[in-house]
Amino acid sequence: MPYPSTVVRGKILWVYAIPFIIMHIAALLIFVPYFFSWTGVAFFLFGINFYGQLGIPICYHRQLTHKSFRTPKWVERCFVINALCCAQDTPAKWVAWHRIHHNHSDHQEDPHSPFVNFFWSHIGWLLVENRGTHDISAYHRYARDILSDPFYLFLEKHRWVWAMIYLAHALVFFWAGFGIGYAWGGIDAAWQMAWSCTIWGIVARTVYVWHITWAVNSLPHLFGYRNYTTDEGSRNNWLVAVVTGGEGWHNNHHFDQASCTVQHRWWEFDMNYYFIKVMEKLGLATNIIPPKHLRWAGRKVTTVNEGGTPLEELSEPQETSAAEVSETVEAV
Ligand SMILES: [Zn+2]
Ligand SMILES: [Zn+2]
Repeated sequence: MPYPSTVVRGKILWVYAIPFIIMHIAALLIFVPYFFSWTGVAFFLFGINFYGQLGIPICYHRQLTHKSFRTPKWVERCFVINALCCAQDTPAKWVAWHRIHHNHSDHQEDPHSPFVNFFWSHIGWLLVENRGTHDISAYHRYARDILSDPFYLFLEKHRWVWAMIYLAHALVFFWAGFGIGYAWGGIDAAWQMAWSCTIWGIVARTVYVWHITWAVNSLPHLFGYRNYTTDEGSRNNWLVAVVTGGEGWHNNHHFDQASCTVQHRWWEFDMNYYFIKVMEKLGLATNIIPPKHLRWAGRKVTTVNEGGTPLEELSEPQETSAAEVSETVEAV
């Protein structure tokens, strides 16, 4: 498949390429013993979940892109700040790119189809100028609702702000490590722990979350099984599902983009959805959009797996649990 027609071949986006190169080289420091500590590993694991999972799949993807649940505005903005600490750009850009992907999945204007090539879908698409995805008109067209929020519009107009937010949380990790190390073993231990927490908790964690996010674009459009015959190559990939808390059930997601859950079989665990349900219990999440078979109560859903067999559990109409659910969100 050819590159998107809007790609400007040979025009590298250095604003992305340079940080990517620096961060990947710096992440290799985890293999240097001086930078290792179990505290650093703990910061790494904490960061994956607190910044990575809350920020990207739960907020940027399910909440902002697909509107599959709502939270109070202050919660949503806290999640956005978490996402900014993953260095995956502003909410309007992320949402626009992903909606373009859903509109053109595995067709030429898809920003990151692996049918161009694997490298392109994983990281290459971010490194080359694409007027279809890096153009203000695309953000207005695909992320108008996001830009109507003054805070998100502010982030879009002042790109240095999110860079400062990212830098600020890196400094918090650095000085937290310094304090822990100093309390443990004096000034030498303080510097060692500060760098350990920064390399593991910031640099390596950011690179790791980049790759598991990019892996959702690349691997599940090539490898895995299909529950549904959709008009693109999306597949359910258990490995990507495990490392992303459920995002790897990508064929389920492409089939039912509005649904808050991507768990269509009992063993397709969706940790992100379970977390959202806990938030609902705490009164922090509402308007959770149920799966299509619940939204379409009373209507026959003709879903088939690759063998052509109707999925029994999805073909039986059931009582709707959210009458206010708007099918229009599926248009995004
Ligand atoms: Zn996809
Ligand atoms: Zn999506």
